[in-house]
Amino acid sequence: MKAEIVSVGTELLLGDIVNTDAQFLAGELARMGFTVLYHSTVGDNAQRLAALLDTALSRSDIVLTTGGLGPTADDLTKEVCAKSLGLPLVEDAESLRRIEAFFHARGQSMPETNRKQALLPQGCTAFRNDHGTAPGCAVEWKGKIVILLPGPPRELKPMFFEQVAPYLAQFAGGAIVSHTVRTFGIGESAMAERAAPYLRQENPTVAPYAKDGEALLRVTARAASREEADALCRPTVDALCALYGDLVYGVDAESLQQVVVRMLRERGMKVGLAESCTAGLIAKRITEIPGASEVLECGIVSYSNRIKQELLGVSPDTIAKYGVISAETAAEMATGALRVSGADIGLGVTGLAGPDGDDRGNPAGLSFIALTDGSRTLARTVNTGRGGGNREYNRFVTASNALDLIRLYLSD
Ligand code: ATP
Ligand code: MG
Repeated sequence: MKAEIVSVGTELLLGDIVNTDAQFLAGELARMGFTVLYHSTVGDNAQRLAALLDTALSRSDIVLTTGGLGPTADDLTKEVCAKSLGLPLVEDAESLRRIEAFFHARGQSMPETNRKQALLPQGCTAFRNDHGTAPGCAVEWKGKIVILLPGPPRELKPMFFEQVAPYLAQFAGGAIVSHTVRTFGIGESAMAERAAPYLRQENPTVAPYAKDGEALLRVTARAASREEADALCRPTVDALCALYGDLVYGVDAESLQQVVVRMLRERGMKVGLAESCTAGLIAKRITEIPGASEVLECGIVSYSNRIKQELLGVSPDTIAKYGVISAETAAEMATGALRVSGADIGLGVTGLAGPDGDDRGNPAGLSFIALTDGSRTLARTVNTGRGGGNREYNRFVTASNALDLIRLYLSD
């Protein structure tokens, strides 16, 4: 099938940003066996976009647009596209719920302007956006397929890998199978650098991407049958697991908390948590998994210094000397969690979710994690690098690091 990419955005035309979305999509579509015949770029202009869509639909089977799905007046891709196809825009309840949740998670209420992002062409397949507000969608129309995707690469890539590629696979001919090697503790670019020889492979292909502070590698093979495609993936998946060793926490859908709960159950061990900046998020993620009661003894949200001292036994001297945001405080919190819970492992977390840093010069996004079993102790310093304004992200990534520290402790 013939595919075509339409990039929307005046910044692209002016040369303010490089069209990495087109490069990414072109590579992925080619790998899936689609023939990409044209790339076009148009500014945020309704008439010229409508004209370009007409042309694209006259010569290609699949048209993918990027950008212009935002809430502002210059974001008009969806509106123009729906008009060109003669479809009304209707509110998608699930998308609206997700957009509201996106703001809620950041302690904000949804601005009215964002409501329009939940409007989608009637009858389309919606693609949820895990990293922003604008959902994407696919519209099947007169034997053609139009796919609308958000512009920001960190929204577009996970959406493509997790939803668009599986959707498109039905049109690709033959079978396409993908597996995702999930790593924690290495950045996307460092991961890609190490995987360089694999990234040049043809079948299976290997593509890196980032999601929720994790770096993932997607291995995709094409063959006549699913079994053959799967068999093609296997050696590469195994090689990547060997290459990254301990950094790999799972292949395919397993989350960090799933892995941690499984490992704790296998060993018959329990944890006790003392959480400051994550305030129960680690406990929440552990208890998402069935069987958590076998592995979680308790979670203490020790937010104030008083509770850190009175309940967990953190020494006032430690707080005075090193500060409450310090490796020393985290270590004493872990010891306190172990003592209070009577579990096998105690874990302590203290950090700054943001938006502000503290008066000792510690930035938002910095946190300290400690784990102890009474004799062996592990510690980790986390700096999310995103700083203030990303409270939810900072807390999530800190919790992920705590889960990862438990995983590493258990893998030895
Ligand atoms: P938003 O909700 O952020 O407005 P959007 O879907 O409306 O998203 P645009 O407004 O077109 O997308 O672009 C938002 C940002 O995404 C741009 O400033 C740029 O950083 C990035 N971006 C957009 N298009 C591309 C592209 N083709 N290649 C790389 N980056 C892009
Ligand atoms: Mg925009």
